Amino acid sequence: MDIGNYYGENVFNIKTMRDYLSEKTYISLHETISKRKTLDPDIADEIAEAMKTWALEKGASHYTHWFQPLTDATAEKHDSFITPDGEGGVKLEFSGKELIKGEPDASSFPSGGLRATFEARGYTGWDPTSPAFIMETENGATLCIPSVFCGYHGEALDKKTPLLRSIDALANQIERMAGLFGITGDKQASATLGIEQEYFLVDKKFCKDRSDLLQTGRTLFGRIPAKHQQLDDHYFGKIKTRVMVFMQDVDRELWRLGIPAKTRHNEVCPSQFELAPVFEEINLAVDHNMMTMDVLQRTAEQHGFVCLFHEKPFAGVNGSGKHNNWSISGPDGKNWLSPGENPGDNAKFLTVICALILAVDRHADILRATVATAGNDHRLGANEAPPAIISIFLGDELSKIIESFDSGKENAGMKSSSVCETLKIGVSSLPELPRDATDRNRTSPFAFTGNKFEFRAVGSNQSCAGANVVLNTIVAESLDEICTILEDGVAAGGDFNDILQGLLTKIVREHKRILFNGDNYTDEWVEEAARRGLPNLKKTPEALTSIISDKAVALFEKYNVLSRRELESRYAVYNDIYEGTLRIEAACAAHMARTLIFPAAIEYRGNLADEIVSMESAGIDVELSESRTLLTKVSARVEELLLHTRMIESELEKDDAPGIPALMEKLRQSVDSLEGFIPADMWVLPSYAEMMFIFDSE
Ligand code: ADP
Ligand code: MG
Repeated sequence: MDIGNYYGENVFNIKTMRDYLSEKTYISLHETISKRKTLDPDIADEIAEAMKTWALEKGASHYTHWFQPLTDATAEKHDSFITPDGEGGVKLEFSGKELIKGEPDASSFPSGGLRATFEARGYTGWDPTSPAFIMETENGATLCIPSVFCGYHGEALDKKTPLLRSIDALANQIERMAGLFGITGDKQASATLGIEQEYFLVDKKFCKDRSDLLQTGRTLFGRIPAKHQQLDDHYFGKIKTRVMVFMQDVDRELWRLGIPAKTRHNEVCPSQFELAPVFEEINLAVDHNMMTMDVLQRTAEQHGFVCLFHEKPFAGVNGSGKHNNWSISGPDGKNWLSPGENPGDNAKFLTVICALILAVDRHADILRATVATAGNDHRLGANEAPPAIISIFLGDELSKIIESFDSGKENAGMKSSSVCETLKIGVSSLPELPRDATDRNRTSPFAFTGNKFEFRAVGSNQSCAGANVVLNTIVAESLDEICTILEDGVAAGGDFNDILQGLLTKIVREHKRILFNGDNYTDEWVEEAARRGLPNLKKTPEALTSIISDKAVALFEKYNVLSRRELESRYAVYNDIYEGTLRIEAACAAHMARTLIFPAAIEYRGNLADEIVSMESAGIDVELSESRTLLTKVSARVEELLLHTRMIESELEKDDAPGIPALMEKLRQSVDSLEGFIPADMWVLPSYAEMMFIFDSE
């Protein structure tokens, strides 16, 4: 069928609203959505009725407030539309009250101490700015209502609430800046976001024999095969038919959900792939990415695959991330990170660039904390993903322009023109900034890519909400400061352009240490970054502390994004998840080592020993020294395996278990080494070579 005909058919979108609502209600709801105005409670009943009618036509029997707890997953509790009619039958009902607020209880979600047991109830609240949608299986459908999830006193227990608050904070400052720059328009100021999603596919038949994949989402053991990604022959390579059929189903499903899936391709590692949509308003883009992950996993299941979002499913080859492409959209509906064609546009563009330089330099530690998870620890800094040091890549041409502020020279690349006189900020027109040239530095965690910034450190299994809460808030703060200085300066009789020129120069001078165009993967950069005083928070526990620093609390409280209590609860939850993940992995590894690897290893060792003994007793005239060496090696590895397993088990009995990562590494070395000796038919785990390559005919 024609894509245009089914695109968005499972979404209660603007067109559906127009069809199912009275004109008055439609106009009011449309205002709420497009201007983020408070919903008029009087229209809720009519909207609920319309949604129900539409959902029933789509085969739905239930509705659910679909929300995003702090686990990086989505959550749902379904209610059917039925109400007994008192005569042995049912009526199908859905009220405005039920649409607006749910009380799922949901007291088992992590709250980091925000909810005492006596007030454990959590509440979900409809977010009208993200449209309701239908989730289908072959056997029925459910109406999903994107929602926030809060405690009794409104404390945020989810990822969406602070995101919405941060969008408000940012929008306020964008509006203020628009006023100062004489930019008009009736569009809602916001940020835009495009999320590139990487993932792995593994044939389901292998997963049932890998409890590590099932329980931890990654392989805890496995030898890297002779051929993997060395030849770069998978990246952008021809897509295997079996995978193509899967991708076609995924795209169709995403389009039916109104998710603008745009690109699909093979990634670097064999069996690794990527999907990217066209960018959207930031809140919608985050929801759509969560839905995309769900569609990928469900469709994979139907195709006999398991879709892995873990940041490092296989050791020794590339892992997966998300590229978080972020920009500002002004009340004029324009992208403010597009270098413009006239001086006014360029002054605005350079102001936003400087606001980002200021924001990211001041709060690099908080940005780093948003990508701190047990899974991402395996990837960041592993020569395939940006390091834990946050820096900004601007590309040569933009760097020259920005640096010329500081050196006080005429702006490099500036064309002289009479308009320049009116705008002393000195940019009559910027040289065309070629997108290609600006996008070449794949090693940078935070890169300007022609008309947006790309934050590349987000883990593939993470929600992008956290990273964007921080981005929005830190940029709101720097725009706030810039606007205040401009307003005060102009009120005191100063010249707008003079003040702006001075201000941007000062920002560049004070914060240029965050700019780095070189190779982020080198040791020299680690040393250079240390000299510049940039934070290098290597692992999750140290990185997470940044979200409860006085600086972070002051920032988030000032912009009403997160209170100290909410930040502390998040800190507790993220630490618990980190520790919990490590413990699960350790327990799983120890169990596999004892019950799967050890029995195979001693069976082989026994065979070898028997063989040597029987060869000797046969009295043959051969040294057997190689056989003995092999037996010695295998025996040594088996002993190490037992030792490290026991050490992991006793570490797990401690309250804190700081030794786990190092011990896991040691155990892995023994196991992977044994895999290299033990006959393939005795080895009980599917190998990397089997799992990494997908064949059309299975
Ligand atoms: P790549 O980074 O692989 O070269 P693209 O340049 O096509 O890929 O863009 C990657 C993502 O950035 C896409 O999701 C795209 O829609 C998004 N993007 C493009 N422009 C913007 C923008 N102004 N704001 C946010 N995201 C954007
Ligand atoms: Mg990209």
